[in-house]
Amino acid sequence: MGEFELIRRFFQRPTRRSALGIGDDCALLAPTPGMQMAISTDMLVEGKHFFADVHPQLLGHKALAVNLSDLAACGAKPLAFTLALSLPRADAAWCQAFAEGLFALADAHDCELIGGDTTQGPLNICITVFGEVPTDAALLRKGAKVGDDIWVSGSLGDARLALDALLRQHALPPAVLAQARQRLEQPTPRVALGMALRGVASSALDVSDGLLGDLGHILEASGVGARIDANITRSLLRARKHPLMAALAMSRIDACTLAGGDDYELCFTAASAAQAEVLHAAQQAQTPVTCIGRIEAEPGVRIMTPNGQQLPLRFASFDHFA
Ligand code: ADP
Ligand code: MG
Repeated sequence: MGEFELIRRFFQRPTRRSALGIGDDCALLAPTPGMQMAISTDMLVEGKHFFADVHPQLLGHKALAVNLSDLAACGAKPLAFTLALSLPRADAAWCQAFAEGLFALADAHDCELIGGDTTQGPLNICITVFGEVPTDAALLRKGAKVGDDIWVSGSLGDARLALDALLRQHALPPAVLAQARQRLEQPTPRVALGMALRGVASSALDVSDGLLGDLGHILEASGVGARIDANITRSLLRARKHPLMAALAMSRIDACTLAGGDDYELCFTAASAAQAEVLHAAQQAQTPVTCIGRIEAEPGVRIMTPNGQQLPLRFASFDHFA
């Protein structure tokens, strides 16, 4: 199977939204009047972002999910994406499974594959997503105000818990590992929530490198600080609710929920007067949200434990070159 047959067989489908899709030198996408284009790229590298033996169907899902998560963080509606693939070999079974995972998520978000590039080389997947958002309505990292509530969607830390178990840093009961592993391998981009939070959230981003580090980006962009309730963030580790997990060390729970990475949840701020609107948006998007703290004037993050003590800050967010 050659390069062009591979593209035709696994990635080319009839166009639906774009003026021109796969097959020419460029794809053509007509912007909707009154909307701004939201564009983001994320690359997944074998050994860095996924294990060599991960199922290609899960990889197809995740490669697009992490990109859609960036659109979600901006409140943008997904339109289309391009796919740059470096493959060790033209393996039909692999491509078939990868395309299934990819297109299942793409179709769920009505997001169309409009082009890409295919080369032979170490396994590497790079997707660029294109979305749209009404002009000046995008959710940004700047905009958090003193007194705003800090919210996160869904659960936190399960992906990291699974990753550490797969790296044999600790053992997990099989049922817990299976559940946590699903969070690692099949993250849910919170697209509907991001769109519902337009005009409600004062700032937002998606949590990909760990809550504290990512929240730090909001704080820095907004020139503010934050206070976080550790009792609440601890409750967001889903695995913790499993009866077999009662003995999980508190330090491990904090490490996973506060600095875990790979969560792909939204972290956002909103005026405390807008609480009802936030809950309405969450309900509309059928996505749970939890208020975990408050924006303060004093720079930095203070994590408070149930007995009123401040947790020593020893979590750094992931940095490929640190
Ligand atoms: P060019 O030589 O102009 O770079 P290519 O020969 O690389 O074009 O690709 C041919 C067509 O197939 C282009 O429309 C390109 O966007 C598309 N394409 C290539 N690889 C992929 C891929 N992995 N997924 C989707 N479309 C692809
Ligand atoms: Mg090319």
